[in-house]
Order: sequence, then structure tokens, then C-alpha cells
Amino acid sequence: MRIVALVEQYNGKLSRTSAEVIACAQQLARNTGKQAVALVAAGETSGLAGKLAAFDLAEVIAVQHEKLAVYNPDELVPALAQAIKSENPYLVVAVDSSLSWDYLPRLSARLEIPMISGATAAHAGGDKPSFARAAWGGRVEMEIGFRGDPPFLVALQVGAWSGDDAARGTTPAPIRTVGVELPAAPGGRRYVGTEESLKGGVDLGAATRIVAVGRGFQAAGNVPVAEALAKVLHAEVGASRPVVDSGWLPRDRQIGSSGQTVEPTLYFAIGVSGAIQHLVGMKTSKCIVAINKDPDAPIFEVARYGIVGDLFEIVPELTKQLQAIL
Ligand SMILES: Cc1cc2nc3c(=O)[nH]c(=O)nc-3n(C[C@H](O)[C@H](O)[C@H](O)COP(=O)(O)OP(=O)(O)OC[C@H]3O[C@@H](n4cnc5c(N)ncnc54)[C@H](O)[C@@H]3O)c2cc1C
Repeated sequence: MRIVALVEQYNGKLSRTSAEVIACAQQLARNTGKQAVALVAAGETSGLAGKLAAFDLAEVIAVQHEKLAVYNPDELVPALAQAIKSENPYLVVAVDSSLSWDYLPRLSARLEIPMISGATAAHAGGDKPSFARAAWGGRVEMEIGFRGDPPFLVALQVGAWSGDDAARGTTPAPIRTVGVELPAAPGGRRYVGTEESLKGGVDLGAATRIVAVGRGFQAAGNVPVAEALAKVLHAEVGASRPVVDSGWLPRDRQIGSSGQTVEPTLYFAIGVSGAIQHLVGMKTSKCIVAINKDPDAPIFEVARYGIVGDLFEIVPELTKQLQAIL
């Protein structure tokens, strides 16, 4: 039995979370002595499958049907259900995303298989793997296992696995294209068009450098202090929730359990205390630099570099120094 990395595509482009899903599937395959394969469903799969074949996988399964060219759960769910049923895998690993929140629970119900969402770590110790996930806004961490017989379905929290850990193969993985029967969808949903909900907004998940503004900035009028540093670093500006709730920065800048999940190479947390709800959205950043006047602020526990002091003295000086060398 195999472990299927169910990767997402949108309008013919692989999601940037694909490598994270593959990294988790490979990790579980190694720990359980099973094979990892990738599965992608689309209207046209050749380009997508070719990219996936570069990873160290036993196979790439390409589920292709013209009705899958645009997203519609009434088409995607039966297509995935047919493919997964015939593959009969041990575990299907997917990712939490605004799309999968729509189609994965339907897939779980249709296949009558159990699903764990928001997984942040996997443990393959017992006879079945178990997964960690945060609950109650990140205040507690639960360890959840599956009951019954496989297949099982798990959705990973974005950023919990690093895409950099996905192993590439020495030779391309074989690709198998699979057709599915999609009779008229009973759900009655029809694709009308696409509207970008974040028009003019920012996808912080794709940012490589972020300067995060916390309540320590005290007022909207002080945010330009952070923006000046962000400009020098070519970074995006992010925010903790109180900053957004106070209207100092727009909602699409919020990072944390009720905002965006980010994993930049460089994350400046300035005037941010490090509440668990903020940490779950940024703690996998590669290098965290914290600036806070409280030496006991929890943010220092996840920071690689910490500066204890008044941000209004440190940040302008840092900006000046960086300006001189960058
Ligand atoms: C269900 C739920 C969901 C939530 N979702 C999110 C979320 O998505 N994202 C999020 O961020 N929060 C979220 N929160 C809120 C979270 O619990 C914290 O309240 C919030 O993260 C705190 O933001 P902060 O660190 O900016 O502010 P504070 O906790 O008030 O911290 C301000 C920090 O600034 C420091 N400071 C003050 N002045 C200075 C100065 N002059 N120089 C240097 N340092 C200074 C202080 O020492 C302090 O550490 C959520 C809460 C709940 C209950």
C-alpha cells in the first residue's frame, strides 16, 4: 500500500505547497517502509506531471478530464474519489488551503474515510501514523490517530513541512495518466467565472522577507518606521492581529492562526510579544529576528537573533546602517 501526496493545482499551475505535501509523504513512506507517489488532477496534466516527476517518487498519477480544467467540487471530488478508490492507498496526504477546505471534507465523506486536518507534525511510531495539530487557537496541541482500516486522509497545515525537504529523484518518476468517468454533476454547481478576492492585496505566504509590526508600535502613525526598514530589505510588511484590529494595517497583512501562514527566509518580529496565535503562523520562518523591550517576551524563544530594547531607537538606526551597506 502506498502513500499518496495529493498535490493542488489551480488554473494549470502547481500550488507552491506541492513540495511540502511531497516532503511529508516521503517522510512517512521512509518511516513506514511504504512507497510515496504523487497524484494531481487537472484538465491537462502533462506539464504538471512532468514537474512532479522530478521528485523522488515511485510514480506520478495524473488524473485527467476536460471537466477538471476549472475548479468545481462537483467534478473534482468524484474524480479524486474514483482515482483514490482504484489506487487503494494507505494514506492520502493533502494540504489545508482555501480550496481544500471546500473539497477535502466532501472527499472524506464520499469515500467514507476518516480525515485529520491542520496537521503540524507526523509520528509513525505505532501501527498507524498519528498527527499533531493545534486546537483552541493554538493554546493546546492534540495528538490524533486514525481508527479502522486504511485509506486515511490527512491535510497538513501550510508551512508545517518545508518544501526544501522534498527529495528530488536521480531519474524522473514514471507518469501514469488515469481517465475518470464524470457524468453530469448532481450538485448543480456551474463554473461562471473567477474573481480574485485579494485584488490589490498581498500574498504574504509567497514573501521571502517580512517585517512584522506588533502592538509595540503604539499607533498607526508609527508604522512608517517599520515600512522604512521593509523598504531597505525589499521585504513585505506583516502584522499581528491587534495591529489589524486597530486599523493600522489592512487585514491581508495579518499573520497567525486567523491570518496568513508564512515561511520567509527572514522574519523581523518587532514589538510583537509572540502569542501562540501569532507563532503558529510564522514559527517555521528560516531566520527570525525579534526586537522587543521585554527580555522575557515569548518571541525570543523562537528567534535566532534577539535585540532587547526600544524599537523606536533600534529600528531607525538599523534601517540607517542597512541602507549604508545594502
Ligand atoms: C482565536 C484567536 C485568534 C487569534 N489570531 C491571531 C492571529 O492570527 N495573529 C496574531 O498576531 N494574533 C492573534 N490573536 C491574538 C493573540 O492572542 C495576541 O493577542 C496577539 O498576537 C498580540 O499581538 P502583539 O504581539 O502585537 O501585541 P502584545 O501582546 O500587546 O505585544 C506587544 C509587544 O510589544 C513590546 N513593546 C511595547 N513597546 C515596545 C517598544 N517601544 N519597543 C520594543 N518593544 C515594545 C511589548 O514588550 C510586547 O511584547 C488571536 C487570538 C485569539 C483568541
